[in-house]
Amino acid sequence: MIRAIIFDLDNTLLDFMRMKEESVSAAIDAMRDAGLDLPPLKIREGIETVYREKGIEYQNVFDDYLTRTLGTINYKILAAGIFSYRRAKEGCLRTYPFVHQTVIELTRMGLRLAVISDAPRREAWLRIYATNLQHYFDVVLTYEDTHERKPHPKPFLLALKKLNVAPGEAIMIGDWAERDMVGAKKVGMKTVFARYGDTMNTIHSGADYEIDVVSDIVGIVKKENGLD
Ligand SMILES: [Mg+2]
Repeated sequence: MIRAIIFDLDNTLLDFMRMKEESVSAAIDAMRDAGLDLPPLKIREGIETVYREKGIEYQNVFDDYLTRTLGTINYKILAAGIFSYRRAKEGCLRTYPFVHQTVIELTRMGLRLAVISDAPRREAWLRIYATNLQHYFDVVLTYEDTHERKPHPKPFLLALKKLNVAPGEAIMIGDWAERDMVGAKKVGMKTVFARYGDTMNTIHSGADYEIDVVSDIVGIVKKENGLD
């Protein structure tokens, strides 16, 4: 009997990569307008290199990029980049289609809902609030709660404990096979791969189920619970 659903946040509930791409595009336009005389594609490659090296949550990406590219920070260009990135980010962060309907339906079915994210707590909550998801979850765990990242068992086990369910009574849904699926499976949970959020061209997710739209989780729960 499935009694709880645990969601990953970025690229599972929220279209994080689209937000990132659109915000970076806005920053590139603004920095060129402020005097950065380089082709957009070249700037994007440079910014992506910084993200690859420092992590996707890195906050000083434009400072680093400009230092590497120009040998120094031009503050007119930096301000243009940061300001335009932030302004675009506000408007670009969205849930995937059917996320709100799905979490409401799952709640109606009596399921308990949780989020496990590897993102920093403050950033995760800002994204949850910005997309109006703040009232749905019984448990929200972020990196600071266990100081371990998925696929480490700690965040999964803590979520299960807080939800008061056994591993076999919970489904984990996420877009990152090596972290979300492997970690959840290891502790004995059922797994659903969010194929729609996959940005890594995953071929074998290793999950029990794969879905192309988040609302498919409702049918999976019904099937698991013998309700269909
Ligand atoms: Mg994710």
